[in-house]
Amino acid sequence: MRKYLLLPLVLFSIAAYAIAQTTDENPYADQYIYWNHLSDYKLAQASAAYNAIDTMLQLYRPERNLPQLPRHLTLVSLDQLLHDTDNDATQPFYTFINQRMLRVLQDLDRPVTKGLRIYKLYNDGFIIKSAKATVAIDLIPGGSDAKPFIQDSIIYGIAGKCDALFISHWHPDHANLNMAKSFAARGKRVIAPKDLWVGVDPMIQPLAEHVETDIEFPELDLTLHVLPGHQDNVYNNINVVEFHGVGTVAQTGDQWYCCDMDWIDHVHERYDIDVLMPNCWIHDFERHLLGFNPKLIITGHENELGEHSIDHREAYWITLKKMDVLAHLNIPYVLMTWGEWYDYNR
Ligand SMILES: [Zn+2]
Ligand SMILES: [Zn+2]
Repeated sequence: MRKYLLLPLVLFSIAAYAIAQTTDENPYADQYIYWNHLSDYKLAQASAAYNAIDTMLQLYRPERNLPQLPRHLTLVSLDQLLHDTDNDATQPFYTFINQRMLRVLQDLDRPVTKGLRIYKLYNDGFIIKSAKATVAIDLIPGGSDAKPFIQDSIIYGIAGKCDALFISHWHPDHANLNMAKSFAARGKRVIAPKDLWVGVDPMIQPLAEHVETDIEFPELDLTLHVLPGHQDNVYNNINVVEFHGVGTVAQTGDQWYCCDMDWIDHVHERYDIDVLMPNCWIHDFERHLLGFNPKLIITGHENELGEHSIDHREAYWITLKKMDVLAHLNIPYVLMTWGEWYDYNR
């Protein structure tokens, strides 16, 4: 008899719990009392933290080498939020990243008269703006096509202010076909690695062979030098962008092992690299830095919110530790987060 009573009781309890989780409004939310409303509490806490972080990042801007303590603490706080998977795909995260990307969209209207302005975007995305050209590398909306991190009006607005798009490799945290098509639709060239997006659009141009290739952009007064890197066995274009007379930047995509170190050791003999933008988790960081011998390092790819477990999200504090280990090379670095920019002058 008892077991017949138990089953309805269990079902009732499950249903009551489910209803409580979905419909039970917190009557004390306006008094900031969250007892028994755990997910509400975490959302409210994340929102408060993201707001404070965004404010601090505007007060303490990117600077060379170890950030002063307020900015350092702000970046570490951001690491903590972004390594708590309860915060993934929540409204506080979307609000944070979109308001930061909106500022990039607005700032892209500000002219550059001297040197290069370098913007950092999610995930390994960069925009480099000179007086004559605005170039995007690995520009993506993030998230899924169904629910992108950055809303269309902002990310496609940003794309609309760029003159060309360069793609390192096909992985979705670097390459997005809709983004490439938006450049092509405006008559702007997209340079992709061999075999990616073949025959999609005449303006989307994968390399014919995975070899060192120079591509001229006379209308933008720049030359793209593609170096044939790899992420394991995936073709990974290392995009070296030479803004004539202004500066040369190199973004390494997801360069990782394989077979390239012998020629990477000698990149500095042929290219005068001003700014190197390496993936922050590149193997043998020191050897890559010696190979490129840049005048400034701006890492990318921190806090990728992809399929990886949190140990491979790559925190800002880890980049700071790595830069500290490499301090003997005397190459300055600037640690930026999404939606920040830095003016580089030779
Ligand atoms: Zn990647
Ligand atoms: Zn990759």
